[in-house]
Amino acid sequence: MKKVYLDNASTTQLRPEVIHEMTRVLTEDYGNPSSTHSFGRIAKSVVELSRKSIAKIVNASAQEIVFTSCGTEANNWILRSAVRDLKIERIVLSKIEHHAVLYTVEHLKEEFDIQVDFVAVKHNGEIDLTDLVDLLSQDIKTLVSLMHVNNEIGSILEIEKVGRICEQHNALFHSDMVQSVGKLEIDLKSIPIHFMVASAHKFHGPKGIGFAFIKKNSGLKPLFYGGEQEKGLRPGTEAVHQIAGMAKALELSDANLETERNHIQELKSYLVTQLEIEFPVFEINGTSDGIYTILNVLLPFPDAKTAMILFHLDMKGIAVSRGSACQSGSIKPSHVLAEMLSSDDLKKPSLRISLSHFNTKEDIDLLITALKSI
Ligand code: PLP
Repeated sequence: MKKVYLDNASTTQLRPEVIHEMTRVLTEDYGNPSSTHSFGRIAKSVVELSRKSIAKIVNASAQEIVFTSCGTEANNWILRSAVRDLKIERIVLSKIEHHAVLYTVEHLKEEFDIQVDFVAVKHNGEIDLTDLVDLLSQDIKTLVSLMHVNNEIGSILEIEKVGRICEQHNALFHSDMVQSVGKLEIDLKSIPIHFMVASAHKFHGPKGIGFAFIKKNSGLKPLFYGGEQEKGLRPGTEAVHQIAGMAKALELSDANLETERNHIQELKSYLVTQLEIEFPVFEINGTSDGIYTILNVLLPFPDAKTAMILFHLDMKGIAVSRGSACQSGSIKPSHVLAEMLSSDDLKKPSLRISLSHFNTKEDIDLLITALKSI
């Protein structure tokens, strides 16, 4: 049975070149980057060359890139230090943020008694910028945290506009860019932004490594203590092979962006066409012009079959997701879809199909055939 992986917003297959580079670093460059001997210096240069390469791709300076263990850690760090050290009194976010942001803010609210305001989300999953402007007219030290691309429905934030709105209102701006880095061109110098986070396993790199962009002189303090790594901002011996793998993955995503985007975009259009033919009353959750890698659809199956769909597809070797990665398999409705669907529609089956350049038309055909047999 051919297995079909259509859950690329959860995680992605590693590129062979990434595995090769990581294996090489693990084998040859095993020194501790903090050691002053040649083994240490070589490992240190792997880390610093990776940092430079990543910084260049997102158009930041190398000192502004800090390696973390994942996107979740980086979100926790930025939000917590903003409140604890930068004396942020209010966080403005949306109800469709990833739980790495939502739950962190919930805890910070309890711990520090900060004000938390939710910006309105339109029915198509877009952030209501008029409401954001309204919220920011209050005179209180604010950080805005809005994700660039939503991991469940693929809606894209007008990030430059949001950055300018924050700038005009003296608010700090943080963006979870876990779903956009490696898939969209990112130019951090053209956006008034203070913080952002990314995660390697979403762009065909290894799990357990991510990075944060921390604008120069932002005053952010570390979450952990114990070493001078990452200029003391993120102590702990650097995971050299992970860092090298992440840099390699981002370099390849960047170099192949145009061709891979065209290929994936074509697959997505083909998928929509096939769904239109086979399930004429299906609906797209969110906007139809979301990111090219994600399609979230509401399928016209009766309630009795709803619970069985993922299981049925899994039996046929097809991996898709219901809602976000962390929720797949859970019976709770997605918090993102809950913001935009009626309670009736929420009971119907929605599938998140997320694509990568490794997918083919045959994968889509197998998915459609499997869906038809339910
Ligand atoms: N933010 C978004 C938008 C995500 O999609 C994810 C992963 O599902 C995360 C954060 C968490 O990233 P990580 O798996 O690196 O902790």
